[in-house]
Amino acid sequence: VEPGDVLLETTGLRKEFKGFVAVDGVSLKVRRGDIHALIGPNGAGKTTMFNLLTKFLPPSAGTVVFKGQDITGADPAQTARMGIVRSFQISAVFPHMTVLQNVRIALQRELKNSFHFWRPRRSIDVLNDRALALLSDVGLVKFANEQTSSLSYGRKRALEIATTLALDPELMLLDEPTQGMGHEDVGMVIDLIKRVSANRTILMVEHNMNVVSRIADQITVLQRGSILAEGCYGDVSKDPRVVEAYMGT
Ligand code: ADP
Repeated sequence: VEPGDVLLETTGLRKEFKGFVAVDGVSLKVRRGDIHALIGPNGAGKTTMFNLLTKFLPPSAGTVVFKGQDITGADPAQTARMGIVRSFQISAVFPHMTVLQNVRIALQRELKNSFHFWRPRRSIDVLNDRALALLSDVGLVKFANEQTSSLSYGRKRALEIATTLALDPELMLLDEPTQGMGHEDVGMVIDLIKRVSANRTILMVEHNMNVVSRIADQITVLQRGSILAEGCYGDVSKDPRVVEAYMGT
């Protein structure tokens, strides 16, 4: 798959909960290399979409194709192995360990799950180097030996993203990455997401329209389980239906 090609495509994706339709025939295309934002009022179906994409929920109808392969019937572990990983769910961080230890644990878990040749002595150095490289990617090298609980809220999020990056996902799903953050932390997380997106694709649920306007290449607006509008920020933010959906809730 080349940059700009479709990496993930859902067709007619639908999820019913006892007759209530939470996701109603969503056909979504996520292009490789994009930061793609999924937005919409509460109850629009964003979380359910994420659960369908990571296979925590089976769809009632429709298909999910990733890198040209139909993964509709895959389970969460298979989906993660194929390269779709959701942050803040798989990798919670341990507060009483150091920042470096947290990333090492995530890497170790990943190594055990894959079929890497495992040589204990050498692997310790390799693991440290790899962990430090990941911390460098998220701007946390300085804090490697700090206890995780002492980090600011924004930096904890950065660490969570680093532990997700340990799985080397091709498509990273971020659930409201700036939620509850102050101005400074929001800026840090924006920079971090931009850096991380240099060599992977990001699909994020985000309520902060300032954040969306600054980093999203593509936006999909959901409302009551269906796509209301799609496009770049300039187009979507001017769409009268989108304005109404946001003003009306
Ligand atoms: P969003 O993340 O956009 O706020 P959700 O995907 O969480 O929306 O929810 C969409 C709709 O589906 C909501 O009306 C919610 O109440 C309903 N819903 C979500 N999960 C379940 C469930 N497990 N059982 C019944 N209804 C659910």
